[in-house]
Amino acid sequence: MEEEVIEKYKKAGEIAKKAIEYSKEIIKEGVSYKEVTEKIEKKIKELGGGFAFPINLSVNSEAAHYTARVNEDRVFKKGDVLKVDLGVEVDGYLSDTAYTIEIGGGNKYKDLIEASKEALKAAIDVIKPGIEVSKVGAAIQDAIEKKGFKPIINLSGHQLEQWDLHAGITIPNFDNKSNEKIEEGMAIAVEPFATDGVGYVIDAQPSEIYQLVNVVPTRMQVARKIIEWVAEKRKELPFCKRWIVENVKGFGIDIAIKQLVQNESFYNYPVLKEEKGGIVSQHEHTILVLGGENIVTTA
Ligand code: MN
Ligand code: MN
Repeated sequence: MEEEVIEKYKKAGEIAKKAIEYSKEIIKEGVSYKEVTEKIEKKIKELGGGFAFPINLSVNSEAAHYTARVNEDRVFKKGDVLKVDLGVEVDGYLSDTAYTIEIGGGNKYKDLIEASKEALKAAIDVIKPGIEVSKVGAAIQDAIEKKGFKPIINLSGHQLEQWDLHAGITIPNFDNKSNEKIEEGMAIAVEPFATDGVGYVIDAQPSEIYQLVNVVPTRMQVARKIIEWVAEKRKELPFCKRWIVENVKGFGIDIAIKQLVQNESFYNYPVLKEEKGGIVSQHEHTILVLGGENIVTTA
């Protein structure tokens, strides 16, 4: 990996780390999701970063993909098990990192939260050039099962490339027996999810997170303006409806977005929930796999 590229990955990681630290100061019982999201976004911008994807604030049995909506009414509640998952983009080079907390400082889910944290540590310890992804998955699975929980098997870590959040290989959260290998020069995000449920997520309601997957011609003027904005500012990185409303002027934005999902220009991410309503914890870091020592850019 070129030095210049490493520096950009490191900068994206450092900004994400600071954003995570900042989130821990401002997330409190009674505060709204929207306020926290907007404050973290402002912080990331001030630090010179762009957004790898909309900040995910998923709670309890939600594992991923809940982001503050245009008309958001959620506030943090005591006892909530909250996953904060965010990522930063610097010249298209990405970081992706997450942690879990229990709102209000309780410790009912302390062990569950520890399980994904220890699994991430165990994974980072075994990652080196040439290792099979299944061995990393096995390390994650072991650490989580030792704590008496289950890894979520249909969620996984992923490779990162410039402007591409889910590139190349996936890093399973269990021993999937794959002999696919992690190679020197890869940037990867590892994200163990632990649950007291069955270890499987299903699609719940649609989120307000989207991604451009295809440019399908449309006659609706505002839809064309939305596509233009997305293609220029987001390329193929995920974005949310809030950003469209803030950045694209025009009438009928709601209808236009619906149309763009329907004609398959946009993929609309569903909120992912544990199948049996189990509580979910997650931890994530971004790792540069280099010849010498790995760099955990977000730690
Ligand atoms: Mn993430
Ligand atoms: Mn990720």
